[in-house]
Amino acid sequence: MSKKILIDLSKFRTFDKKSCDVTPPEAFFSYPPNINGLKSIRELAVFQFTCRRCEDAPCIHVCPVEALEKDADGMIHRHTNLCISCKSCVTICPFGTMMSDFFDHHRKKELYFDLTDKEELKKFIIACPIGAVTLVDMDENPAEHIYKLNDKVLIKELVWSTEKTVK
Ligand code: SF4
Ligand code: SF4
Repeated sequence: MSKKILIDLSKFRTFDKKSCDVTPPEAFFSYPPNINGLKSIRELAVFQFTCRRCEDAPCIHVCPVEALEKDADGMIHRHTNLCISCKSCVTICPFGTMMSDFFDHHRKKELYFDLTDKEELKKFIIACPIGAVTLVDMDENPAEHIYKLNDKVLIKELVWSTEKTVK
C-alpha cells in the first residue's frame, strides 16, 4: 500500500501563531483543475468534516461579496476569486470551522506546496506544526476520527454528528 498523507487539523488549530513568525503552510493537489481557483487541502477538509452545514448559514449572510455558497449537499465553498479576506465568516462561525491563517495565503500561490510533488511534500511536512502532517500506511478509520479526503489524503478531525451514540 502506498503511504497516505495524514493531516491532523487539531494541530493546526492549537498552533500558536503569535508565538512565532511562522505561518503554517498550505498545500494543494495540482489535479483536478479547480474552477474556483487554488483550493487548499485544509480548506477543503474543514468544509467537508468540520462545518456543521448550518441551515441558515451565518457565514454566507455575513460575506459582503457573496463569495460563499452551498452546494446541493449543503457543503460550503469559498470562491477565492471573489473573497476579499475580510474574515467576517471566520468571526461569525459559531463552530470555529475556518482558520484565520487561510486568508494569509490568499492568492499567494508561492506559499502553497504541491502534494503531488515528492520534494514539495517533504518541505510541507517540515514546515507544518510538529506532528500535524505524517505519512501513514492506513485507510480511513472513523473510530480514530480519521477520514478520507481523497485517495492520497486522510484528515484527522472530530466530526460533528446529530446521531445519538448507542451504548
Ligand atoms: S457558520 Fe460555520 S458551521 Fe455554519 S455553515 Fe458556516 S462555516 Fe459551516
Ligand atoms: S473572508 Fe472572504 S469568504 Fe469570508 S466573509 Fe470575507 S469575503 Fe466572504
